[in-house]
Amino acid sequence: KTAETEEFDVIVVGGGPAGSTAATAVALRGHRVLLLEQQTFPRYQIGESLLPSTVHGVCRILGVEEEVARAGFKTKRGGTFRWGRNPDPWQFSFALSPRLADPTSFAYQVERSRFDAILLDNARRVGVDVREGCRVKGVLGDEERVRGVGWTGPAGETREARARYVVDASGNGSRIHGEVGGRRTYSDFFRNIAVFGYFAGGKRLPKPNDGNIFCAAFDEGWLWYIPLRDDLTSVGAVVGRDNAAAIQRDPVTAWRGLIDSCPEVRGLLDGVAQATEAPYDQVRVRKDWSYWKSQLWRPGMVLVGDAACFVDPVLSSGVHLATYGALLAARSINSGLAGTLDEDRLFNEFEARYRHEYGLFHEFLVSFYDMHQDERSYFWKARKVTHVDATEMEAFVELVGGLASGDTSLAGPGQAGTRLTVTASELDHAVGRLPDSDGLRNPLFESASIRQVFQEGTILQERGVFGGPLEKETPLHPGGLMASEDGLTWVTE
Ligand code: FAD
Repeated sequence: KTAETEEFDVIVVGGGPAGSTAATAVALRGHRVLLLEQQTFPRYQIGESLLPSTVHGVCRILGVEEEVARAGFKTKRGGTFRWGRNPDPWQFSFALSPRLADPTSFAYQVERSRFDAILLDNARRVGVDVREGCRVKGVLGDEERVRGVGWTGPAGETREARARYVVDASGNGSRIHGEVGGRRTYSDFFRNIAVFGYFAGGKRLPKPNDGNIFCAAFDEGWLWYIPLRDDLTSVGAVVGRDNAAAIQRDPVTAWRGLIDSCPEVRGLLDGVAQATEAPYDQVRVRKDWSYWKSQLWRPGMVLVGDAACFVDPVLSSGVHLATYGALLAARSINSGLAGTLDEDRLFNEFEARYRHEYGLFHEFLVSFYDMHQDERSYFWKARKVTHVDATEMEAFVELVGGLASGDTSLAGPGQAGTRLTVTASELDHAVGRLPDSDGLRNPLFESASIRQVFQEGTILQERGVFGGPLEKETPLHPGGLMASEDGLTWVTE
């Protein structure tokens, strides 16, 4: 038993984007929040390419948008892809809706050490008790609910704190997520491995797309090329798990070899040296990153960000899902602490919306992989929708409650493709019409089902920019809850 047990309204575990968002959004409503982070910031993290909903939606709601804008991050107008049937790269720009065209149809490419530190400092500024160097070891609680956490402080001392709610935002390495819904389910379809590092420069795409992420499919998988600064480029290869042994034996050689086998990316790095400044002087490896859980909350505890779920990085959705999930959790917590609505109803709303958003991206990504054809490549042949394991699809459809696709109950095994909200051929068709996409009208968003994938992001952005969505929001389910005007709690219709 420790000498002193502190009391809070909410304890947040982890100070990444998910943790900072949840903590700030709760503290903004005047509650007492403790955030425990095991590392000392700034710390390295992968996930550098953001979406506009994070920058203009979540950051605006958290009151940190201007500071992020002042940090001088590279402006990202969209993505450039060498992907699909077209042998030439195509652009995809963020005109999410004509209403949100400039000045908010852009995001940033961020050095995560700096971006995450800005968000964490902002949490501190609005009153969150942020403690770095504090590693959470486990949760306190009983059958009925989770009631706090135990952690080790910077000097190795053991401490405890209690709260009405514990938020697990401790990322993919979470050691406490199993307290909610048991083990993770890992996706077979996205069972990839990434090896990534940095170059001290590199060519840029022609303006105005010089800040775009460039994703290039090649024989063994695909590569990302992210311009972080004029003298810093993040380059990563995503390949099949069959490469794991070679990558783990010698990551640097494997990484250079993969880059060399993709002419589009190799050409951009001609004569450019690998970065030597820390933390960019290392080549790192991550595997098995697409997973979800059968449950995202239990009384007293919620999971957000990578602690909860993650899906393949090709659309840069990680930080969006993490901050969006955290905002949803904060709404349920704020309403729970205010005692206005039943806890079950509040947290079921959080879970349903989070799953829905995750489900849309998951399905979209399956189709996006399906769209790239390369009959000679083992990697691409294995990533056809017809090769999605029926059990995985069924488990997934059950998980998202059939929300993502309207017609799930009609599809039997082997018909997985018919279940998808967006099909590869629909994507292919839209991409084929992209050459004129630099204008306001983006052919990708003329497809209702593609628009649906980005709908929540747009609403979030509108809420940040205009203080609420332009059109009346509809509940996700009949009788479901809606976000309050400031986006920080739930209200009934
Ligand atoms: P994290 O950022 O991981 O933060 C969790 C924090 O919790 C860490 O600071 C950690 O130190 C702390 N912590 C862990 N355990 C404890 C503990 N026991 N006690 C206290 N603190 C603890 N996303 C994008 O948006 N764009 C991209 O381009 C992109 N590319 C990616 C490429 C790859 C290869 C991968 C694997 C992911 C990529 N992502 C990308 C995803 C992105 O990295 C994550 O989704 C995002 O970092 C999740 O944020 P988070 O706050 O949930 O977790």
